[in-house]
Amino acid sequence: MDVKMKKVKTTRPPDDVLKKIRGRDEDCVYCHRPFIKGDNNASATVEHLNHRKDWDSVGSYVSEGKDVSKIVAICCHACNSSRSDKSLLEWFKTSYSKSKNINYDTVAAVVRDYIDAYEK
Ligand SMILES: [Zn+2]
Repeated sequence: MDVKMKKVKTTRPPDDVLKKIRGRDEDCVYCHRPFIKGDNNASATVEHLNHRKDWDSVGSYVSEGKDVSKIVAICCHACNSSRSDKSLLEWFKTSYSKSKNINYDTVAAVVRDYIDAYEK
């Protein structure tokens, strides 16, 4: 099977949903460090759990009336840039994740639920 990955534009989560997500994720959903404003590594960033370039997950969730907070989370800048566009299970194998003890058992529930739904 030769499927070309077409890059689609990612929809921004609606403001009210983002507010809800920021309230839920009080520290990094991956490494659990507290967010520090102005600290380049520890600042809070919006993370799309989906890594597929051909799937605008937020766009589909919005149009299907599904809960966008299940596929978007808040993580620290360091984790966000380390993960980049890797799948979560792939990223857990990197030295970054290993050094910070980031894996299926240690991440926030929202991340585990995403993996259960889309990466297993
Ligand atoms: Zn982190």
